[in-house]
Amino acid sequence: MSTLNSAPSEPEVKPTAEDAASVIDTSKMNAGQRAALELTEAARETPADRKSFVGGLFMGDCDLSAVFPFPEQNPEDRDQGDAFLQRLEKFLKEKVDPDEIDRTGEVPDEVIAELGRMGAFGIKIATQYGGLGLSQTNYSRAAMLLGSHDANLTALVSAHQSIGVPQPLIMFGTEEQKKKFLPRVAKGEISAFALTEQGVGSDPATMTTRAEPTADGKYFTINGEKLWCTNGVKAGVIVVMAQTPPKIVNGKEKKQVTAFIVDMDTPGIEVTHRCHFMGLRALYNGVVKFTNVVIPRENIVLGEGKGLRVALSTLNTGRLTLPAACAGASKQCLRIVKKWANERVQWGANIGKHAAIADKIARMAANTFAMESMTLLVASMVDKDKKADIRLEAAIAKMWGTEEAWRIVDDTMQIRGGRGYETESSLKARGDEPIGVERMMRDCRINTIFEGSSEIMRLFIAREMLDPHLKVSGAVLDSRKPMGERLPAALKAGMYYAGWYPKQWLPFGSGIPDGVPGRLAKHLRWASKTSRKLARSLFHAMAKNGPKLEREQVLLGRFVDIGAELFAMIATCSRASALAKTGSENDREEAIQLADYFCASAKLRIDRSFHGLSDNTDHQGYKLAQTVLKNSVKPLEDGIVK
Ligand SMILES: Cc1cc2nc3c(=O)[nH]c(=O)nc-3n(C[C@H](O)[C@H](O)[C@H](O)COP(=O)(O)OP(=O)(O)OC[C@H]3O[C@@H](n4cnc5c(N)ncnc54)[C@H](O)[C@@H]3O)c2cc1C
Repeated sequence: MSTLNSAPSEPEVKPTAEDAASVIDTSKMNAGQRAALELTEAARETPADRKSFVGGLFMGDCDLSAVFPFPEQNPEDRDQGDAFLQRLEKFLKEKVDPDEIDRTGEVPDEVIAELGRMGAFGIKIATQYGGLGLSQTNYSRAAMLLGSHDANLTALVSAHQSIGVPQPLIMFGTEEQKKKFLPRVAKGEISAFALTEQGVGSDPATMTTRAEPTADGKYFTINGEKLWCTNGVKAGVIVVMAQTPPKIVNGKEKKQVTAFIVDMDTPGIEVTHRCHFMGLRALYNGVVKFTNVVIPRENIVLGEGKGLRVALSTLNTGRLTLPAACAGASKQCLRIVKKWANERVQWGANIGKHAAIADKIARMAANTFAMESMTLLVASMVDKDKKADIRLEAAIAKMWGTEEAWRIVDDTMQIRGGRGYETESSLKARGDEPIGVERMMRDCRINTIFEGSSEIMRLFIAREMLDPHLKVSGAVLDSRKPMGERLPAALKAGMYYAGWYPKQWLPFGSGIPDGVPGRLAKHLRWASKTSRKLARSLFHAMAKNGPKLEREQVLLGRFVDIGAELFAMIATCSRASALAKTGSENDREEAIQLADYFCASAKLRIDRSFHGLSDNTDHQGYKLAQTVLKNSVKPLEDGIVK
């Protein structure tokens, strides 16, 4: 670190997508890894002019002014949302039986029709196109309500709205496309999103569905097969990702993925199979086959070759539905547990009085509060500025929210004991209260897998967390570049870090916003200091590992987890501070108690992650996994049915 003594100003970095792709050294990757990376890098959004709050946390810049005071929903927006939510809640309570939907594997037609009539398929679609024109905050509130009652309906409405036709068209559609398709989907014509294929899960580079332009260039002919298309069985119109002819860029062939809006009654489309799952039993999810399906060029969204950008950008906001739904499901779990822990007596006391159960309830309560705080905070960021850079915040809300919701459902099952494991209909048949925890558990499990699995979310967040460093020092570490380029880059990077690095050792936290209760202010000071510890630890890991850091997924995951917990702490303190200002003395105390406990427990998790940066079994574990995968390890394979 000999460059620490001088402190020049930070270099101005104005990256483009091409720059971003070129800052990662791909020379040690195999062809498949390189293709996957280059394709997703080219599709990355790189909003250089927009600041990301969480991006700042990873760089030691904890700008609390960006998230304090907790944004209050404006009264007009809240009233509009309330009117719709009251209707939706009444309908869910009176007309939607989650157990029946689960048992029959079907959502009654009348339920879908009524959802359409009340506007649930066009919540965010502007009124001029026939939608309700509600905000992201109101949409999140609706997702929470749905998630608290029925996961099948949540998935139906969310796949339609968050990733199906509405969201990509709201973001990227031309006026003609909006006029043509939005009124249809707003009124209840179901839509879907088709990206996944047999060989395409998390890695779109291997896509085989193709769209070839016709000789006159006015149409494209789609051939291929899409897997697990939620709503595909019922949809009238879907968004399909297909490979279009490659482009030559700088003498190299570049794969092109294009997004098409496809009417399901177009000749050549067939739903060949309805898929069935562990949970979400009434999902209308299918395999969709395309044989010479001719689609007009004007149905392309955003432009030829921009399909992955459409998919990734759509999901950045679309991903907010799941944490909202998870917050709803988690609140429902708390409701179940509260009743049971208060009435079930074992060993002479209500089970809620036994410390082992109380410990679970405290964790469930605090984490539910944090989940909702993050979701509402990010939703308000979207409402404030449609162009806000919320990629990291939304990815963290999704990753953290879905993982915690799974633990919460698991704890709920444990607290309900044998009754948690028994089906609703069996409980009912023998006269016990029918509570469907086992259904909730089956339904909840998928959330950490779809819309970006937890592993892919960690990689995505890690990529963005490293981005500022890659821009400054990527060229230095890139063995593909000649020394003549790497040396000046090293000088520039050295100058940058000479200014940046010492700041990461400053002992004090950032200023605490006005009105934060004392018990929470200490957590915010800690979070601010810890953000700098995170930044310098990340820098040390980069210096130690160089380009190899990209392969250290478990290590990078710890940095991601620290950032996620810090964001959750700050969002929680911000919301609790706002609640403490407005409510009664009781409300104030409860909000502070929730946030205080959450922060205290998040700190312990953060400390564990920091400890794991230097003391871990990552490499040993990797070797063991490869041994298990390659060899026949006798004690592990003997004595079972094969
Ligand atoms: C119920 C359901 C509904 C769905 N709905 C839709 C839909 O509407 N539209 C649609 O297009 N798709 C849909 N999908 C597909 C879903 O998005 C994919 O399942 C998901 O992207 C994961 O892909 P995969 O299952 O092929 O897993 P894979 O990509 O094969 O991954 C398997 C495992 O490896 C991990 N992994 C993969 N790559 C890496 C890596 N580089 N580093 C570390 N770990 C890695 C994954 O996280 C996962 O744990 C749905 C799936 C299900 C089950």
